[in-house]
Amino acid sequence: MRKKLVVGNWKMHGNRASNALLLAGLKELGPWSAQVAVCVPFPYITETALALTGQQVQYGAQDCSAHEQGAYTGEVSSAMLADLGCRYAIVGHSERRAYHREGDQLVADKAKAALAHGVTPIVCVGETLEEREAGRTEEVVKRQLAAVVHTLTHCIGEIVVAYEPVWAIGTGRTATPEQAQAVHALLRQQLRAATQKAEQMQILYGGSVKPDNAAELFRQPDIDGGLIGGASLKAADFAAICRAAG
Ligand code: PEP
Repeated sequence: MRKKLVVGNWKMHGNRASNALLLAGLKELGPWSAQVAVCVPFPYITETALALTGQQVQYGAQDCSAHEQGAYTGEVSSAMLADLGCRYAIVGHSERRAYHREGDQLVADKAKAALAHGVTPIVCVGETLEEREAGRTEEVVKRQLAAVVHTLTHCIGEIVVAYEPVWAIGTGRTATPEQAQAVHALLRQQLRAATQKAEQMQILYGGSVKPDNAAELFRQPDIDGGLIGGASLKAADFAAICRAAG
């Protein structure tokens, strides 16, 4: 039986004061039976780590460099994330694919770099509205995942996958549980062909998950939790989503 995982993606929100309040709120509202983590902006990783000391909630980053080290101004390596105790790094979020032109191979290289330092990559895949309407969802998500499968080879079983339809992120428009389950099943099938660990791998759904739609999404057989954007910024909402996963 796979354990559910709920990960908050704070994106570029917050400051020291609001983060402290949010983390204190989670401390008060937890623990949960699901695994829980928050992926925070780089500058706040250390304070988050301190605030979460002794708690169930784990933490991570929202990106990492594909490079090991060197003259890459502005980048943050996975060795640095590991040094700060990060458990996770989101890679290939659709906002990075869209605004920073990150392609499938770069995303795969970032996942490889993270794993090399013991940081679990949460690899995001997902189609745009245009791609869905053109009937290309399967082709797109399989292509995105295939790059990671080919790059990681025997280590593919160590990643977390997040299916995030781009048209559902931050839009208030959620995939129906059936739509999400259908894509999750395809992704699990693709993983089965690549690793014997496919049944144990966590595939998260992301895209306007809220307290009132989380439970039904998480009930689907191949949905193993969620990657939560907007609702992870409110302690009560995030806690309710974590409860729904339990
Ligand atoms: C996300 O940023 O990964 C996300 C799913 O955002 P939201 O929950 O706000 O749609």
